[in-house]
Amino acid sequence: MLTDYHLHLRRDGAEYTAADHHSAENAAAYRAAASERGISELGVSEHIYRFTEALEIWRHPFWERFASDDLAAYCAFVREETDLRLGIEADFIPGAEDRTAELLARHDFDYVVGSVHFIRDGAVDMDDFSVWGSGRSVQEIWRRYFETVAESVRSGLFDIIAHPDLVKYWGDGARRPEGDLRRYYEPAIEAIAETKVAVEVSTAGLRKPVGELYPATPFLEMVLEAGAPIALSSDAHTPGDVGAGYEVALEVLGSLGIREIALFDRRARTLAPLGGEEAK
Ligand SMILES: [Zn+2]
Ligand SMILES: [Zn+2]
Repeated sequence: MLTDYHLHLRRDGAEYTAADHHSAENAAAYRAAASERGISELGVSEHIYRFTEALEIWRHPFWERFASDDLAAYCAFVREETDLRLGIEADFIPGAEDRTAELLARHDFDYVVGSVHFIRDGAVDMDDFSVWGSGRSVQEIWRRYFETVAESVRSGLFDIIAHPDLVKYWGDGARRPEGDLRRYYEPAIEAIAETKVAVEVSTAGLRKPVGELYPATPFLEMVLEAGAPIALSSDAHTPGDVGAGYEVALEVLGSLGIREIALFDRRARTLAPLGGEEAK
């Protein structure tokens, strides 16, 4: 079994509307690309900040710029017009746990992908609202990043922890501490060991400046030791990126002896043997 659960049918630009990409035709293009790559289990997880309801959780100016879609309409579209699992990518916003839980409970998702893109108001992976250059040291940003991931894990809001070392996004020496990075991972790993939440292996990092899988192999080794399962995704925003780089991910997973991946159905998790299927 191969999965791709972290998919965006919608592209990121503010110029696109939901109608541009939330069509049965676009979903079928993702399904066709997945079939070619032997991936049978697919789900869509649009960014929560695309939906007007998200402004109940957070009113960051970045969210205000993008919050235009109707969440109930998205859920109905995925359930009624596609054969994809219904997910959502929800940012962890410290202090807004109750409002986030309440919003998520209104809809019957198969899974919720939890992500940390911001430290307070500063984004780790965007030039807009960037946390870099905010006066904090690189060490402080990395420390705070993984502490926030730990909080997101313990919140219990999420089924999958997305791109767990996104803070390495830029890949340049100036935004990456020196030496062994495992000391930064430890708080997140402790929380993962306590909760056994599924941790995403994402090939998106291969397409970003860093040019590596999320998470780095040492992080993944620590997840294994912690006894938590893996969820596999590409974070594609176009059909061409569905399952992109899976050969790299499968090699790493194989070399670590990972034989199973997580599947989700109405927020219940099962494990399935990991492996590609014959292309259809
Ligand atoms: Zn993300
Ligand atoms: Zn995403």
